[in-house]
Amino acid sequence: ADAILEIKDLKIQFKSGKGTVEPIRGVNFTIEKGETLGVVGESGSGKSLTSLAVMGLLPDKISKITSGEILFGGKDLTALTEKQYRKLRGNEISMIFQEPMTSLNPVFTIGEQLSEPLRQHKKMSKKAINQAIIAVLKQVGIPRAEEIVNEYPHQLSGGMRQRVMISLALLGEPRLMIADEPTTALDVTIQAQILELMKNIKTQNDMSLLLITHDLGVVAEMCDRVVVMYAGEIVEMAEVNELFDRPLHPYTQGLIDSMPSNNERKSRLYSISGQVPKPEEIKEGCVFANRCQYAFAKCFQKTPPVFQDGDHLSKCWLQDTTEGEVG
Ligand code: SF4
Ligand code: MG
Repeated sequence: ADAILEIKDLKIQFKSGKGTVEPIRGVNFTIEKGETLGVVGESGSGKSLTSLAVMGLLPDKISKITSGEILFGGKDLTALTEKQYRKLRGNEISMIFQEPMTSLNPVFTIGEQLSEPLRQHKKMSKKAINQAIIAVLKQVGIPRAEEIVNEYPHQLSGGMRQRVMISLALLGEPRLMIADEPTTALDVTIQAQILELMKNIKTQNDMSLLLITHDLGVVAEMCDRVVVMYAGEIVEMAEVNELFDRPLHPYTQGLIDSMPSNNERKSRLYSISGQVPKPEEIKEGCVFANRCQYAFAKCFQKTPPVFQDGDHLSKCWLQDTTEGEVG
């Protein structure tokens, strides 16, 4: 398969009061063409920061990429200028966020907001723009599209606003869509509808999808492969069924154990006791050691490497098969 996005040894540094911290420390993953890759983790895991880095949206006064590459179609995005990035965003890669109300401008109509990227990037007549907008609104299942274009964001329901955001993300015909908690703010029925929609448009538009979520239920429903992030590192990565059948990292096991029964779809990641260490608290050793029920002496002294079992990766000393043999 062809990779559309390859992140290699990404490290991100932030200025903090006392100096610098490194909230992303060596992230590696690939998204194949047509694939839906889930990135799962609690808040503070670095999943949103990673996606902002891909979009070139890190706050540049206080943060920087200190190492690594973000290859999109083979091109390293970390070398792009802001001007080059503006051409890429919305056209090659689009992003949708959790709360559409904060991404949509309350003082412009839906039609005005949807026509803006078309006016910026393409030479289209007013009529052609209008037709394109109506078509994309229909594609995301918005009824009365001809009337909706004249309405303001607050006149729409949360689910309809998220559909508008998705249509906005589709306008530039991106090859990759990044969705950061796209359904977290929505109630369960609407959530299911939006996920279904995202599945369909991904296939119809021949895109790849990077889905960031804290909800393993969403992962199970949507993703081909899963990356589990914890405190700025990838602690496990596997094909989705493999991850649920045979989670190797104690953190992933904890996430799966704290999933509610299938009927009640509210995720409770927070039932693993303890907290994600802050970037300034990271030291040598396993990042999960302070919460891990299996932790042993070595876990506090030495950072585990990535152990590989076929395509299943995990970063935990329990997977070290050489341990004990050598003594
Ligand atoms: Fe737990 Fe040790 Fe594995 Fe870390 S390396 S997850 S502390 S067993
Ligand atoms: Mg986030």
